[in-house]
Amino acid sequence: VEKTYRDIFKWGEFGKEEELNPHVIEFLQKALNVDVSKKQKQGNAIVQLDKPCSLSPEVIEQFASICGAENVSTTDVDRAKHGIGRFYLDSLKARDCVIDYPPDAVLYPRNETEIVNILAICEELDIAVIPVGARSSVTRALEATRGGVSLDLTKHFKRILKFSEINSSVTVEAGIMGPVLENFLNKNGYTCGHFPQSFEFSTPGGWVAARGAGQASTGYGKAEDMLLSLRMVSPKGVLVTKDYPTESTGPELDRFLAGSEGIFGAITQVTLKIRKYNPENSAKSSFIFRDFENAVAAMRDVMHGQFGFPHFFRLQDPEETELSFQMAGMSGGVEDMFLKLLGYNPNNRSLMHVIVEGDRDYTRLVMRKVAQVAMRYGAFETGKKPVDKWLAQRYSSAYLREPFMDIGVRLDTIETSVSWENLIHLWSSVRTYIKSRQNTFCLVHISHCYENGANLYFIFLSKMDTDNEIQSFTTFHKGIIESIHKNGGSLSHHHGIGKMLRPWLESEIGSIGKGMISAVKNYLDPKGIMNPDTIV
Ligand SMILES: Cc1cc2nc3c(=O)[nH]c(=O)nc-3n(C[C@H](O)[C@H](O)[C@H](O)COP(=O)(O)OP(=O)(O)OC[C@H]3O[C@@H](n4cnc5c(N)ncnc54)[C@H](O)[C@@H]3O)c2cc1C
Repeated sequence: VEKTYRDIFKWGEFGKEEELNPHVIEFLQKALNVDVSKKQKQGNAIVQLDKPCSLSPEVIEQFASICGAENVSTTDVDRAKHGIGRFYLDSLKARDCVIDYPPDAVLYPRNETEIVNILAICEELDIAVIPVGARSSVTRALEATRGGVSLDLTKHFKRILKFSEINSSVTVEAGIMGPVLENFLNKNGYTCGHFPQSFEFSTPGGWVAARGAGQASTGYGKAEDMLLSLRMVSPKGVLVTKDYPTESTGPELDRFLAGSEGIFGAITQVTLKIRKYNPENSAKSSFIFRDFENAVAAMRDVMHGQFGFPHFFRLQDPEETELSFQMAGMSGGVEDMFLKLLGYNPNNRSLMHVIVEGDRDYTRLVMRKVAQVAMRYGAFETGKKPVDKWLAQRYSSAYLREPFMDIGVRLDTIETSVSWENLIHLWSSVRTYIKSRQNTFCLVHISHCYENGANLYFIFLSKMDTDNEIQSFTTFHKGIIESIHKNGGSLSHHHGIGKMLRPWLESEIGSIGKGMISAVKNYLDPKGIMNPDTIV
């Protein structure tokens, strides 16, 4: 049972602590001069909120009469954990026993009718409502800035409602966890194809609501590309879209509702496209390039090649390539020496991972073509071992943030999308900004590719500021967002806007674009109770 702050902010399996491997510890000591024996605040205090629930016992009673007393919680732990996500600052503050915006209560509705009734009460009494999935948001989207209730769908909305091989689709309730859905599909010979790094602890409702992207998105698309139809309860009523393969019935509603981050209503069901699951056919390989520029050009040529796309298509920039060599204890080893002899030198070389899925002929063809393009750009094929290594830790590497923070290391990420023609400029400008902070590592990879551009994912790593880490981080983080924005990157490729990026939205989509979102919100939610202060 969760009791402490650490229990509620730590990413990964509940109660399990990650150990840092000796290579990582050695690296942190040497590179960042971190004293690994000195522990920072770890958040082991029992959760105790200083803000009491501000809803009257009568209102709580009304909610209990709708969804049952056992599905209404006002405990400090429940309120605290629903008021934060997994942003670096969430963890940093919670380590200090600070939860800025807990909801007043957490409700676990059992069906759609209960949500309709809850929204009616909330509208009448002007109580904010925040739809919540698995709480993996990293954009402050879950903070209850005006109090109110969190509507948690992970307890009761987790059924698989329809599996259709004929339509190649699955209809699920929005709060089912990623692995439960994927295991079901795999057993039936299919895959959902959506594997965000948060896959183990996230839900289809959250994937669609934040317009997320999985690690295989180059082949399978983003969450909005997978979405065929949905049901959403808004204060205005229940909106249902149909699962036609496509239609021409005015602007596409599914696309407009995807990315709504709970501001229009609670998504209760989604129908998603599925694909045949043939892991035995997968083709895997990796390629090392002499520099990032050539590697990016190869990636772009693959995306323009018209022979099909890899599903997982990732490229580490030189700093990330180097650090992954060091942390895996490979620097200076035989493979490293060999690569150096061939002219693939540290701090210039870039490692690409490729996995193609599907029919065997297809996977072989695409991999052969990718290899041809890579060779044209001077790459050396390093085989499937690096891909297998990456696959083995593709979810668990995220568990490392807390042990890093425990010893005073700042580790966070930020992401964007950019056209091919502007990619190198953006990469280099944002890196220059990040590295302007003394002794900061900036690791960048591309993990989602399109014919017209790609994403850039920045990981930054440095020693915490001992005087005031919250203020120091906030200023630095704002500078990164502004550097991305100024240099032509989108505000977000897949994490969403939340409350964190809201101040910049208008300058990206314009006042008319923002006005359109507000107008739809005003229509569906005239009193503005749904996830206030998010997006608009
Ligand atoms: C370690 C880590 C790695 C991550 N990696 C990725 C990644 O690779 N790709 C990626 O896309 N994202 C990633 N994320 C971000 C996050 O996991 C995604 O945004 C995910 O889609 C959120 O799903 P969730 O169920 O946790 O939603 P929550 O975090 O609970 O909610 C996210 C937003 O969606 C809204 N929402 C949730 N459910 C509903 C619903 N049923 N109806 C209406 N609104 C709803 C919430 O109000 C909120 O605004 C990562 C996060 C972490 C912590």
